[in-house]
Amino acid sequence: MKIYADKRMLAVGLVGGTLSRHNGNMRELNNQTAVYQELGINPRKILHFHQTHSDTIICVATEQDALQISARPLQDADAWVFDSFPAQWGAAIVTADCVPLFLWDDTGSCGALAHCGWRGVVQSLAGKTARGLLLNHPNLRLNAWLGPHIQACCFEVQSDVANQFPQSCIEHKNGKLFVNLNTEIKRQLVQAGLKEEDIKTPYYCTCGDRENFFSWRRDHQKNLLLSFIYKP
Ligand SMILES: [Zn+2]
Repeated sequence: MKIYADKRMLAVGLVGGTLSRHNGNMRELNNQTAVYQELGINPRKILHFHQTHSDTIICVATEQDALQISARPLQDADAWVFDSFPAQWGAAIVTADCVPLFLWDDTGSCGALAHCGWRGVVQSLAGKTARGLLLNHPNLRLNAWLGPHIQACCFEVQSDVANQFPQSCIEHKNGKLFVNLNTEIKRQLVQAGLKEEDIKTPYYCTCGDRENFFSWRRDHQKNLLLSFIYKP
């Protein structure tokens, strides 16, 4: 099993990251279940929502919250904020070019996972997720990691999309416009209070690396990659 993850997050005792395409299309829940089982995680204790490219955040603070969410039909939302991780609970998102954004603190007691597509990014979902986590822990030092997603090399857009972003994250090449989501998410996180050196943006391009990733932009197929965060 190939999991892309930040060593700093694993070092504080959290489990998670973004899987390569080798574990299959994660639109199929059976494929997700197989991953959790291989890792010794109870699939029923991974929370899910229905992603809508919104800026809606679901907060989890207690095991009671987690139990209630898992018992209800899926809610529409695009980010998880764990004010405090109940033991042996976690949450998942699925992506195919969008940014899986992971946040956590140095004790591994709280964290977040957001599905930041470009629509979420222009609604400041990354910044709002960080602020959501900092709301009840204003002095927390948060780490951030941006998992595999479409990088600026491949994310060509027309001016109607480019105009929704700050100029600072638009790259101009040969008369074409490209969005650098890393730049904009980093800007939002720093504005929310994170230190620039605590934000890692490794260069894994879902669109450029067919061997390891699914990409909506490249394939126009509904294949999805899984990202999850879990407190053992
Ligand atoms: Zn690329």
